[in-house]
Amino acid sequence: MQDHVKIKQICKFFGDNKALDDININIKKGEFFTLLGPSGCGKTTLLRILAGFYQQEEGNLFFEDSHMNNIPAHKRNIGMVFQNYAIFPHLTVFENVAYGLKARKIKKDEIKVKVTEALDMVELSHLKDRQPSQLSGGQQQRVALARAIVIHPGLLLMDEPLSNLDAKLRVKMREDIRNLQKSLNITTIYVTHDQEEALAVSDRIAVMSEGKVQQIGKPHEIYLSPVNKFVANFIGTTNFLDAEIEIIDSDKHATVFVEGAALKTKLFESAYGKGIYSIRPEQIKIKETGDANSALVEGEIVDATFLGESVVYKIRFTSGTLISAHEHSIRYNMLRKIGDLVKVDLNPEEAVIFDESGE
Ligand code: ATP
Repeated sequence: MQDHVKIKQICKFFGDNKALDDININIKKGEFFTLLGPSGCGKTTLLRILAGFYQQEEGNLFFEDSHMNNIPAHKRNIGMVFQNYAIFPHLTVFENVAYGLKARKIKKDEIKVKVTEALDMVELSHLKDRQPSQLSGGQQQRVALARAIVIHPGLLLMDEPLSNLDAKLRVKMREDIRNLQKSLNITTIYVTHDQEEALAVSDRIAVMSEGKVQQIGKPHEIYLSPVNKFVANFIGTTNFLDAEIEIIDSDKHATVFVEGAALKTKLFESAYGKGIYSIRPEQIKIKETGDANSALVEGEIVDATFLGESVVYKIRFTSGTLISAHEHSIRYNMLRKIGDLVKVDLNPEEAVIFDESGE
């Protein structure tokens, strides 16, 4: 598929602070692409460069094959949705959505057709005569969304659009945004610090930290094959355990010693010596003490948190190391108790192993 947005070697400074450090991303036509990372990593700065609100010091930006560096914001054909809605409090819902069309000197009849169509899409037609103060947060964000899409922009940019909504509404709205984006087939770049939201809505995600892109990939690639310790830790939760790696054949099949157990696994690259063994709580299997498999590690349940669908156990190994493990709570009599002794399968087939520096 054709690339719609090309971000090439972009750097942005605020005084001495390098907010963006050599960003390279290609975004495909019709793609839902998310910039994900902790506060201060540079997501909003990059979005603002795309919108034309900031100018980068280094690097180039292309939409289709047009060079955009010197094109002002109002000529970039972009729709934007912000966290704080940014709708006009003195205008009705209809007038808010019509605003951008009026500014473009579109005829009255045509404005009516287009606004009605956009309000239908966000399911707000019945509230078209209300003032924003008479709307809920979710409804106000739908007005902002309708206003962004009514101009039929080439690119839709969204900066934390769901942050001000409560948890249930966030889930409903993210599904609606995703469905609308797919039905309009509009290339969308979405900023969030919420990893679950990013996994749920995105075709691909760029995980950012300290002004750099750490990894670009589909949601499952980023979750199951994180390229470094930062990504593994930021997306979902994981256990990091000290490991000693021994390569045993040329095909990179290795034995990794973790908590005294010899685990057989396959590495992506040849490595030897100290490493970090990363395994997610839901990938760990809890076994009974009678299991004689020598690759299991002995431990004691020291904490249990019942979450309805699953239970999170904290298990302490004999070395003192603590890990988290999830188990589905299918039946009452399967729940484990604090003080229970168990054996733990650290599931080397699912684990990711980093070198000592976390790469
Ligand atoms: P958040 O999720 O908190 O919005 P973010 O990932 O969007 O964070 P940015 O707002 O892009 O991060 O900020 C990146 C870095 O640039 C931060 O160190 C921030 O302090 C700095 N920064 C952002 N805007 C400005 C500005 N206008 N002037 C000076 N420094 C800025």
